[in-house]
Amino acid sequence: MSTDRLYYNASALDALEFAGTVTDIRLDSKDATSQLWQLSLERTAFYPTGGGQPHDLGTLTAVSRSGAVLEVPVERVEEDETGEVWHYVRKPLVQGTEITGRIDAERRLDLAQQHSGQHLLSAVVLRELSASTVSFHLGADKVTIDLAIPALTDDDLRRIELAVNREIYADRAIRPRWVARDEAEAMLARGDLRKLPEREGPMRLVEIEGIEHNACGGTHVASTGVIGSILLRRTEKVKQGTRVEFCCGLRAISAARRDFDLLRQTGALLSVGAPDVPSRVEKLLQDAKASAKELKALKKAAEPVPGMHNPER
Ligand SMILES: [Zn+2]
Repeated sequence: MSTDRLYYNASALDALEFAGTVTDIRLDSKDATSQLWQLSLERTAFYPTGGGQPHDLGTLTAVSRSGAVLEVPVERVEEDETGEVWHYVRKPLVQGTEITGRIDAERRLDLAQQHSGQHLLSAVVLRELSASTVSFHLGADKVTIDLAIPALTDDDLRRIELAVNREIYADRAIRPRWVARDEAEAMLARGDLRKLPEREGPMRLVEIEGIEHNACGGTHVASTGVIGSILLRRTEKVKQGTRVEFCCGLRAISAARRDFDLLRQTGALLSVGAPDVPSRVEKLLQDAKASAKELKALKKAAEPVPGMHNPER
């Protein structure tokens, strides 16, 4: 049986609290010693790991007949091949228990900002550089996309970063909707959709107004403005093209803050302001090189000539 997913028809910051009933419980066979239980609910707002995006965290709260409140943290959320969503918890809640589920809002916002930012970044890269996105990875401290392009210049990076930030400020609506398979196929044929998953049945399309439609089951913010900002970081050559590391929202602010603090500390050590750090370091490296050369010459001059008697010994 597949679980009804409340996040499908809402934006990422809606439906963060929901009522549900435990439909099944089983002991996680891979983790029998630590008593990790898997619970299914007839409906859930918890996003399970998938599509390159990590699962939500949060709690399930149950109230006993005596009125005692039991709050159980959800440690992991996975879906099985039938579409059932399993919530991993340390305390068992028996079948039929009524629960209130609460999603960790801060983590949900962070993940939805990175994920929605990736949609926008991929669309802008396609528009500006005609390069498609091959894969996406959203980690706890690193977000990357792989682009089907041999290389990106620093100028490309700056141009794309600015263009994506402009689309963020344009605050375009992001809306999920369901369409029948044949409608999605017609959109694909017209070029309104880039690709379609193999799966049969209705498709969930996510539209960024005026930018793109994408078949996607993830969590998205309600408009591009909520992405906040995007910062493109390093690039790396990979087998399928170029990997670009990026961050959105508060992650972008934290990354910029960390970099600035490092630069300021380095400047203080060198007694120069941040803009003069590179030239100061260059000068120090040149001086060090010259000193090493001088030292080598002095050592060579001080070496005893082989075969000559040394009067001091
Ligand atoms: Zn998506």
